Amino acid sequence: MTDNAEEIVAQIERLGRLARAAQHEEGMKPVQWEVLRYLSRARKQSRNPGALADFLSSTRGTVSQTLIALEKKGLIKRLNCGSDGRAKRLELTPAAHEMLTRDPMEKFTIAVSELGEAPGLLESLKGIVTTLVAQNGTNSFGDCRNCSQYVIKDLGGICRPKEMDIPAEEAVQLCRDFEPLLTGDIKHSNIPVKMMS
Ligand code: SF4
Repeated sequence: MTDNAEEIVAQIERLGRLARAAQHEEGMKPVQWEVLRYLSRARKQSRNPGALADFLSSTRGTVSQTLIALEKKGLIKRLNCGSDGRAKRLELTPAAHEMLTRDPMEKFTIAVSELGEAPGLLESLKGIVTTLVAQNGTNSFGDCRNCSQYVIKDLGGICRPKEMDIPAEEAVQLCRDFEPLLTGDIKHSNIPVKMMS
């Protein structure tokens, strides 16, 4: 453990508190904003209650209550999918997309942008998240650019286990089945920068 590990954890905890405090705007709760952000970034195949519960490290029951509240606010809808129609896909409504233009976390994005390049910061934070979700036995979520199952092809790529073409614009979306690249692997880089999240 480095000398300043405890101080770094204290700062992460503080940031978490600030983030929670900031997200009580527009009559919303922090977890409701998280759901909207997740659904705006996730692959179609990962926009379902089970994947959402994994992402939030929450239970299906708790997530169900949040989804009911968001439905009542007119911010999400559930679409039938799958052959028997029992599987549900979650989609944001136009009102949710409009609401996300006023996301209270934007002030955090601006504060981070003001750091400039901040070399290593993003990879370090991702490393911490990967370690902790592995300890919990849950999925780490990520996109094709950093996934060991992604094979570059032309301007997009292929998902090896799913044997599925992934257009470049989908390669930046969050995926529940993501498997992180091993340390030292080179990040896939055929995706235009403007598409990167
Ligand atoms: S390549 Fe990885 S991140 Fe992309 S769809 Fe396949 S499993 Fe998900």
